[in-house]
Amino acid sequence: MKKRGAPQLLAWSKSSQWRAISSAQAKKNLAALNAAPRCGALARSTGGPCRNPIKAGFNRCRLHGATPKGAKWHIAGPAITHVKTERKIRDRVRAAEKKARRLAKMAPEELEAHRQWQRAHQPGNAAARQRLRDERKQSAEVRAMMERPRPAPSAKSSELADQITALRAELDRRRDDEQKPKPIGAFA
Ligand SMILES: [Zn+2]
Repeated sequence: MKKRGAPQLLAWSKSSQWRAISSAQAKKNLAALNAAPRCGALARSTGGPCRNPIKAGFNRCRLHGATPKGAKWHIAGPAITHVKTERKIRDRVRAAEKKARRLAKMAPEELEAHRQWQRAHQPGNAAARQRLRDERKQSAEVRAMMERPRPAPSAKSSELADQITALRAELDRRRDDEQKPKPIGAFA
């Protein structure tokens, strides 16, 4: 492995003083771990209690449900979030750089072929994209149908419309007749 850092720092990390400090800290950490209460969950590997030290603030170890509880149970700790986000960003940047290098090496006709392939092969679910295409096509057809001018009424249809109007008028008249009070007995 390549050694990193200034020579003074490398010397310091090998000095007996540094060893004493780090050994004392390691012993302190180990003592705290040993003093911590034990997780009592059933360990499937042994069939007995787990015996791992519990995580601070919980009564189980990290393997047996020592996960955040309460209103903010779904929010990961800031350290984890930040590490994951930075890794994602780094990965994206690295991928983009790699792609840019690959494109820069391509001959013009090769580049054009690549662009055409990219246009023809969109990312994502092929079935979902086909469904969206169908929906767009159908809406365009409906729109065209709505915008098409209505044909002028033919002689037959205007004749039918006149008949309907006459029948409606007749119906209204008969209804009015029925509503009128009927004359009774001798005055009929
Ligand atoms: Zn446990």
